[in-house]
Amino acid sequence: MHIPKKYGHGKVDKCPFCQKHATAMNEQKVPVCQSHKDEVLDNLKCICGSPLETLHGKFGTFFSCVKCGNINMRKALEFNEIKPRMHNEIFSQNKHERACQNKPQPKEMTVRSDDPRYFD
Ligand SMILES: [Zn+2]
Ligand SMILES: [Zn+2]
Repeated sequence: MHIPKKYGHGKVDKCPFCQKHATAMNEQKVPVCQSHKDEVLDNLKCICGSPLETLHGKFGTFFSCVKCGNINMRKALEFNEIKPRMHNEIFSQNKHERACQNKPQPKEMTVRSDDPRYFD
């Protein structure tokens, strides 16, 4: 039986966070770029809505859904929007700041340890 060579063998993996060439691996053994090697893929959801479990096999990282079974990483990344956590935090922070801009800023209260009232 002739087994055709797997197409795409030797391809360069892309970082799931920024689509750049993956030259490093994160702690999940997912190929990532240097700047995202501290990021992890988490809270991924299956297309059915169930949370995906991250698993590691002979062929790399894959995901498992309780309903749909195993899902390869490429598939999982297709229906999950992957964003580096750092960017998410900045984004929600900006959103928060924008929401606060309409409210009057509370006056900052600083209690100094050398303030005599502090010890009352
Ligand atoms: Zn990246
Ligand atoms: Zn599923």
